[in-house]
Amino acid sequence: MSQDIPHYTMPQFLEGYVWLVGAGPGDPGLITLLGAHALREADIVVYDALVSPGILEMANPDAELKYAGKRGGKPSSSQRDITLTLIQLAREGKRVLRLKGGDPFVFGRGGEEALRLAEAGVPFRIVPGISAGLAAPAYAGIPLTHRDHNSVITFLTGHGMSGDIPDSIDWVSVSRGSPVIVMYMAMKHLPRIVDRLIEAGRNPEEPVAIISRATTLEQEVLETRLGECVAAARATDISPPAIVIAGSVVSLRSRLDWMERLQETLLPLPGRDRKNGD
Ligand code: SAH
Repeated sequence: MSQDIPHYTMPQFLEGYVWLVGAGPGDPGLITLLGAHALREADIVVYDALVSPGILEMANPDAELKYAGKRGGKPSSSQRDITLTLIQLAREGKRVLRLKGGDPFVFGRGGEEALRLAEAGVPFRIVPGISAGLAAPAYAGIPLTHRDHNSVITFLTGHGMSGDIPDSIDWVSVSRGSPVIVMYMAMKHLPRIVDRLIEAGRNPEEPVAIISRATTLEQEVLETRLGECVAAARATDISPPAIVIAGSVVSLRSRLDWMERLQETLLPLPGRDRKNGD
């Protein structure tokens, strides 16, 4: 099947190259055309834990699939191994697809991997993906910007290299300067993150949504308030991977929760038809 679309020729996936590709947040329909092209062309796909099985099914049946997921807390030695593997495979003349959840350059260590490839002289291409911080609010019916609410968004991670909340976050600046805060990897340290935000002046009554396994059939959304979100999360079994979003835009969800409406009318959800095996 030709992968070309009118007025666009897919770039050739050359041997000895590494393509760092964003798989998107889960729904296989959210991968880019370039990402899908790379999956059809690659000799080997080195993929992370957050890449959904539906995406891997798009790979060329002859391609080798290699899991390179890291379990939480395991330090950088396995990250080193992953980059060494990528370099070695490329030097063997393979077309190496490094597939990462969401976008490879957003909190996904893609920058570190690309730097190592550059140092080693291995040619590479970056294919962006839809980051969970964009997709989760969209699938939950929460616009990240709305002119009545905000002109600034902050994306932050609640988990730094040390395993703790990153030291580099200036909570006062974030709290004062950003009406909408989108938090990755925030569940583990949520109690302390919430304390920091409230200490820095955020209103405990501010709407918060926790969006778990966004864009998959297991998507769950918990709507709560900043001061109550820790207890509310504990009271439910909402679990990572999750995006936590704080800001008044969360209140728009009551009118924009399109997924809920799809379920009510029994229209197929994205990817749901896969259940019937087509
Ligand atoms: N590069 C990825 C982020 C990797 S960090 C991206 O751009 O999306 C991993 C964090 O991403 C998780 O802890 C969680 O906060 C978020 N995440 C990834 N997939 C998610 C999903 N389907 N639903 C909700 N959050 C998700």
